[in-house]
Amino acid sequence: MGIGDRHQKKDVEAALKRAEAAGLKVTHDKNRHRWGWVICCPCNELHRVHCTPQNPGNEAKKIDGFIKDHRGCA
Ligand SMILES: [Zn+2]
Repeated sequence: MGIGDRHQKKDVEAALKRAEAAGLKVTHDKNRHRWGWVICCPCNELHRVHCTPQNPGNEAKKIDGFIKDHRGCA
């Protein structure tokens, strides 16, 4: 991710960093309540990331779940 692509919620930003470290692609395409996507390139699955999640901890957990589910894809 480039400068300016950081998520405003630090828990979510940390999870996005873990996703990148795990080899997933993170894109920021801000559209209404959406911040962007975490993408697993080998299987083409997308996980939507919200801009202003009600519960950042839960949003981060969902990203971690996606990472776990797709760790074996690459
Ligand atoms: Zn996958």
